[in-house]
Amino acid sequence: MKSEKQTNFSLELVNREAKPEGTVLNVEGVQIGGPEIVVMAGPCAVESWEQLLTTAEAIQAAGARILRGGAFKPRSSPYSFQGLKEEGLKLLVRVRKETGLPVVTEVMDTRQVELVCEYADILQIGSRNMQNFALLNEVGLCRKPVLLKRGMSATIDEYLLAAEYIFKQGNDKVILCERGIRTFETSTRNTLDLNAVPMLKRRSHLPVIVDPSHGTGHWWMVPPLARAAVAAGADGLLIEVHYDPQKALSDGAQSLKPDKFGQLMKELRAVGKAVGKGISS
Ligand code: PEP
Ligand code: MN
Repeated sequence: MKSEKQTNFSLELVNREAKPEGTVLNVEGVQIGGPEIVVMAGPCAVESWEQLLTTAEAIQAAGARILRGGAFKPRSSPYSFQGLKEEGLKLLVRVRKETGLPVVTEVMDTRQVELVCEYADILQIGSRNMQNFALLNEVGLCRKPVLLKRGMSATIDEYLLAAEYIFKQGNDKVILCERGIRTFETSTRNTLDLNAVPMLKRRSHLPVIVDPSHGTGHWWMVPPLARAAVAAGADGLLIEVHYDPQKALSDGAQSLKPDKFGQLMKELRAVGKAVGKGISS
């Protein structure tokens, strides 16, 4: 490793040497970072009981293990739907009771951490907050697993240092998520940086998942990039699914319909097999 380009920053806790065998996190019985690929799926935003339950049942039937859904939404425009907030968290918990699926949802603000912790199984830190150090410190103080998304303009060094902040506060349950970075390319929403998968796996011991929905911005690009992510060694995927994407209150253009998601899960099983990883059915 010495001959490779290395950062000047020192990573004490998240670097691969700290745990050469790699981290496997147990989230309500779901092992993340182990021999099985874990698919987390669901709507960008929680919109209603019917929307969430229908989607949850569909993704579960297809083999997804964790339900995603935003209750606090970080929207570029202040005029866009901002999420159902606590009402959305309550719907997530009701659907978890109904289906047994653990839930991942975003926390945007230090003042919401306690509240979101009461409802979520995994706290999501969004791309826009990857370097919100106060928020990283706050989630570092709680004991819930954290899904830390890569900042849209963050280098791998900056990204790993953000994970280090959470660890340094005592929370060693961090999942990394490559979700695309900003480049000169405008035909896609972001450029999904699959380089990050083997790089993060080599440099750190944390589970690495990929979000091809935000990484591309186009629903029809999600299946090929999801397959590529599994082939590149990802431990899991985060995929947006909506039963009526045209009516979605956020990110409809990149959301798969349940039938397309079901088809993708079948394809992922074949790719997983080729790289020695299973996917639950
Ligand atoms: C999301 O997962 O819906 C989201 C807002 O993601 P990101 O922070 O990666 O943009
Ligand atoms: Mn989204």
